[in-house]
Amino acid sequence: MPSLSSLFLKLLTLGCQHCSSKTLERKVIQVNLGVMVSAATILIFDVLFYLTGNWTVFYSGLIQTPFLLLLPLVWWLNHSGRFFLARWAIFIIVMSDTAVTLFLAQGTIFLIHYYFLLFAIIPAAFFEIAQWRSSVLLFIANLSLYCFFQINGWPSLPEIYELQAQQLNLLRVIMVGSSVFTIILLLLISERYSELNEIYLERLANTDPLTSLNNRRHFIDNFQQILLKQLDQQQLALAIIDIDHFKRINDTGGHDAGDEALKHVSHLLKEHIGDSGLLARVGGEEFAMVYIDTESATPINRANTLLLKLENSPFYYADQKYKITASIGLCIFTGQHNLDHVIKEADDALYSAKRRGRNRQETRNIA
Ligand code: GH3
Ligand code: MG
Ligand code: MG
Repeated sequence: MPSLSSLFLKLLTLGCQHCSSKTLERKVIQVNLGVMVSAATILIFDVLFYLTGNWTVFYSGLIQTPFLLLLPLVWWLNHSGRFFLARWAIFIIVMSDTAVTLFLAQGTIFLIHYYFLLFAIIPAAFFEIAQWRSSVLLFIANLSLYCFFQINGWPSLPEIYELQAQQLNLLRVIMVGSSVFTIILLLLISERYSELNEIYLERLANTDPLTSLNNRRHFIDNFQQILLKQLDQQQLALAIIDIDHFKRINDTGGHDAGDEALKHVSHLLKEHIGDSGLLARVGGEEFAMVYIDTESATPINRANTLLLKLENSPFYYADQKYKITASIGLCIFTGQHNLDHVIKEADDALYSAKRRGRNRQETRNIA
């Protein structure tokens, strides 16, 4: 049996599988939440009305039951991907509910017509910008209803006037408070979703889609930050790793084999660096690594260990074995240095390693 929280999450995200963007997803969630808040409001007021001991007040809550039963229809519409209809359905249900309660029982004594103000504002959040006509229509309709009832008032059933002044005031405060609470809740959801969306987009912009490693842009940003914080005596090392004769893998096994080889190498590099440095795919078959902790093992030893690891970890694709080696250009430096300078030194070292026969590392030391 699903737990209460997973059921809540399921109801909240009904229809999200059809969403093509995070913004649309946020709106669908807001509508789903709107159903919950509306149902909870009706039920809470039923309890409060019951507690007053005034049966006409309680009756004014009970006549909302048909609308309560209609609310899940909105979830069903969202679930089947009919978002526009779902949005209209929720407004038609809650507006009819408010109007029927107001006309047939409560009148304006509890300030239920304040809900029309809420229904005037919310469509701007629920509908998409392209559907602005719906937002405007609902804004005008609800604002007019609010103004009409605010100016003219509407009588309630006579027995409701028998309520004590204290009870009456409390119900009014709760009625208006629940509208304000709904707006705050929707604002918070919106804010939280925007934040998650930003994190998602940032990750997308910083990640190489094939290997899930950091991409060149992110690497440069991070490396720049490391260089700015670099202490005078601290030693750092940049390693640029380029797979040897990578083109041959593509030529022999096809582009897919090449892609899988890149994932294989990325995995080995990740294992090699662990959490103690910076790693990125900076070019087609070129990777960059920054060794930050150079005290436990010298960068040269670590680069040699990496070369052995790559050489001894053949890659298999479509029953074919590929031996993979790489060449490494290492730049070891102490103190403040310019990013371009460090990269150029490592690049030169890499070029030299390639020229001297590949599957080796070359080092440049700069002080
Ligand atoms: P060297 O030892 O001199 O580095 O030779 P190499 O073949 O590794 O280098 P070269 O620069 O000649 O070729 C690199 C190849 O990598 C060319 C390009 O088609 C391939 N490549 C670049 N990015 C990708 C990729 O994302 N997937 C695949 N499958 N191949 C890629
Ligand atoms: Mg290469
Ligand atoms: Mg290359």
